[in-house]
Amino acid sequence: MVRGLLNKLVSRSLSVAGKWQNQQLRRLNIHEYQGAELMSKYGVNVPRGVAVSSIEEVRKAIKDVFANQNEVVVKSRILAGGRGLGTFKSGLQGGVHIVKTDQVEDLAGKMLGQILVTKQTGPQGKVVSKVYLCEKLSLVNEMYFAITLDRKTAGPLIIACRKGGTSIEDLAEKFPDMIIKVPIDVFEGITDEDAAKVVDGLAPKGADRNKSIEQVKNLYKLFVESDCTLLEINPIAETADNQLVAADAKLNFDDNAAYRQKGIFKLRDTTQEDPREVTAAKADLNYIGLDGEIGCMVNGAGLAMATMDIIKLHGGTPANFLDVGGNASEGQVVEAFKILTADDKVEAILVNIFGGIMKCDVIASGIVNAAKQVALKVPVVVRLEGTNVDQGKRILKESGLALITAEDLDDAAQKAVKAYK
Ligand code: GDP
Ligand code: MN
Repeated sequence: MVRGLLNKLVSRSLSVAGKWQNQQLRRLNIHEYQGAELMSKYGVNVPRGVAVSSIEEVRKAIKDVFANQNEVVVKSRILAGGRGLGTFKSGLQGGVHIVKTDQVEDLAGKMLGQILVTKQTGPQGKVVSKVYLCEKLSLVNEMYFAITLDRKTAGPLIIACRKGGTSIEDLAEKFPDMIIKVPIDVFEGITDEDAAKVVDGLAPKGADRNKSIEQVKNLYKLFVESDCTLLEINPIAETADNQLVAADAKLNFDDNAAYRQKGIFKLRDTTQEDPREVTAAKADLNYIGLDGEIGCMVNGAGLAMATMDIIKLHGGTPANFLDVGGNASEGQVVEAFKILTADDKVEAILVNIFGGIMKCDVIASGIVNAAKQVALKVPVVVRLEGTNVDQGKRILKESGLALITAEDLDDAAQKAVKAYK
């Protein structure tokens, strides 16, 4: 299957498969302005800024915050990067603009409510419901800084590059030697030597070395104390007056720490997420939305992947990855079915269950209950095998629902494709 999906899966569900827990690995992603606010609390230099959602608020912000400024940076507020090089569906180029203060209103009007497409949003883009107005700094040097969790050293890893601002993937390809990596001993914490190594990697031209070391240490402190999984600043920049500032912010947090990071987790913005995934997350289902037309309900990540492959093989495309898990409840099955039927793109549903711990009769009852609650407008192909398969089949049969039964995986995929083509 698609490599992107595989990566998504590896990071989301397969990495926890070893713990055989029926839970997705989800990471909270917060907006740049929220990240900047948090960094500021930790003594990291950030530009002054305010997020606004209407022209009235733009006017007020200009008056209150940027009155004596010549220019303002106007940034589309979406939960994705690559905004600078993005394109609006309206045709407007660039999701980040630097404009004269008296033109902010006009530009913000062209951004608000529009869809911005970047390398990270996917072709459907994301809606710009707010713009982030930022103090324009004269940046004389743009560098790259990130802290992430490293599998090899089993701890935080700081990545720095003396060139930044553009995509780090391109930098890594063009200038691999400029990228330095400094692993931090999570028990010992960051030492002055560690921080100095990072600063030498950034190689600021004018910023004070000791002050820069302090900034790096502050960023590390924030990373650890907030249970971050990623803190990326691209660019971390130098201003004409030799200050190091975080001119962008991407912060992700470990969902397993939600219980002790309540303030941060309140910032989750579900309006920027795939609504199907938001609903699935609430029901604790392993769900990833895709663009195809066959909705899949499967138990087990491996079987789900195989099912998607076989759908492809027989000329269809999956609308989603959905693993209801090894011991889903009837209620979860109902929720799963609702998500599939609510998706306009879904033209057929394929249920493929191998009953092991999961019992076929539970799945069958879930399907029947869901069918009572939602109007079934598309054909449903069901393949059940394993524990309690006879009870399962009987429940489906006695329900009177118009279901298409299948014998094995190939048969099921072929029938699902045929059902709508
Ligand atoms: P991204 O494209 O989503 O990563 O958005 P950024 O926040 O990184 O903004 C894109 C680019 O705008 C940055 O890489 C900078 O080159 C530029 N930029 C952002 N803020 C300022 C600023 O205050 N002054 C100047 N001169 N450039 C800025
Ligand atoms: Mn950036």
